[in-house]
This record gives sequence, C-alpha cells and structure tokens, in this order.
Amino acid sequence: MVHFVGAGPGAVDLITVRGAELIKQADVIIYAGSLVNPELLKNAKSDCRIYDSAYMNLEEVMDVIRNCNGELVRLHTGDPSLYGAIKEQMDILDKEGIPYDVCPGVSSMAGAAAALKAEYTLPGVSQSVIIARAEGRTGVPQGQELKVLAAHHSTMVIFLSSGLADKVSTQLTEGGYDKDTPAAVVYKATWPDERIIRTTLEHLSDDMRKEGIDKTALIIVGDVLDHEYELSKLYDKDFATGFRGKP
Ligand code: SAH
Repeated sequence: MVHFVGAGPGAVDLITVRGAELIKQADVIIYAGSLVNPELLKNAKSDCRIYDSAYMNLEEVMDVIRNCNGELVRLHTGDPSLYGAIKEQMDILDKEGIPYDVCPGVSSMAGAAAALKAEYTLPGVSQSVIIARAEGRTGVPQGQELKVLAAHHSTMVIFLSSGLADKVSTQLTEGGYDKDTPAAVVYKATWPDERIIRTTLEHLSDDMRKEGIDKTALIIVGDVLDHEYELSKLYDKDFATGFRGKP
C-alpha cells in the first residue's frame, strides 16, 4: 500500500495526526528532501528504508514503490494537491494496479497566512484567492499568466516564484494592480528560520534581493494585507445562520 502524505509546511508538529501515524508504520519512506523537514523521519521505524527524492527521477521513485512489499509513505511538502507532482505517480499506480491513498497536509499557503497573521478573504476587499506561479522553466497555460490573473484584484498567493520577483511585480502591475499594493514574502513559513518581508509590489524584488531570498518562499499580494474592510456577516448579530437565529 502506498500513502501520499502531506508533510505540512515545515514545523514538525504541523503534520496531521494521520500523517504522523503513517510515518511510524512505514516500511519505506520516500521524502522530498528539498522541502520536507527531515526531523519528521525521526519517528520512522528503526528498520525503515528512507530515500530522498531530490536525488531521484520519476522512474527511480516508481521502482522503489514497485519493489516495496509493505507500507510505503511518499512524503510531499505542504499539501500534496498543490504543485506536488502526485498525479503522474498516481496515474502509473492506477495503470499497474498498485493501491494508494492520499493524506492531506497543511499547505505552506496556510503556514504563511499564520506567520503574517493575515486573513486572505476579507469582506469588501477580496473574497477569492488565486493560487498561481510565475512562468519560469515550467510554463503556464495561456490565459493564466500573472498579468491576466491580476485583472481580478483578488488576493494572490504565488508559489515557486521567489527567483522571479521582478517578473511578478512587472506582470501584476501591468495587469492592473497599483504599484503600492501591499505584498509580503514569507520565507520558510513555520520553520525555525522563518523570515517575513512586508513591502509593496513596487519594492518587492529590491526588498527580496536585499534580504537574499530567492527560494523556499511564497509571495502574497493583495489589499487584504493592509486595508479597511467590512465586518464579516458570519458574526453579525442581525444575520441569521443555520446555528443562530435573528435576535
Ligand atoms: N505542496 C506544497 C507546495 C510545493 S511547491 C504546499 O502545499 O505548500 C514548492 C513551493 O512551495 C516553494 O517554491 C515555495 O514557493 C512554496 N513553499 C513550500 N514550503 C514553504 C514554506 N515553508 N514557506 C514558504 N514557501 C514554501
């Protein structure tokens, strides 16, 4: 049995209870060494075989999976559904009739919001969040360029783009965000060496360069980081909900 497990954003106690249990029971673990906290592996059985997928290609990963007779944990950073490259692995397992399941994890986008003490969805400011990346070595489909997505003026959480901050600022500004729009960078959210930059779109790339941040970071953009907003209807005393009638 193969378990795809979300390791969480970094802090060892931000894996789910289920994920931690699966690690304890695993006979084999393949973890994404570039971003998964290796401390998580301390709870593995003493005879558990451990592989770092940072040094492996897809075929090598699949060979380890095929040759495992017991419980195998494929440990991915954050939540595996976001930029996790799990679909290509699951498709091969489907084809070969190897059973698997997926255990969700706390995404770094949640870890970053916690670090910033931010709420991505503020009434009257943004009620949607766009999860995106700048076009780099991996392209983005037509119509999903940051410049196009900027038209929505929603909160944007930008993955895999810390080395492309210039492009992020330029595209979002060309797409319609004001250059003074608040932006934040969270480097290694929830890790002991987490760092935060609060800036604006105009100064984003300069500030990242000054801080030497060009990897393992999320860029968050939007007025939710600094704005007047309306109070939520959820706790409004005149707003009835399924749990609470009107006074
Ligand atoms: N599935 C992961 C994302 C994998 S893509 C998740 O849900 O978080 C890898 C990118 O995620 C990195 O380039 C970076 O942009 C972001 N990332 C992962 N862990 C991070 C962390 N602890 N702090 C900030 N960004 C992180």
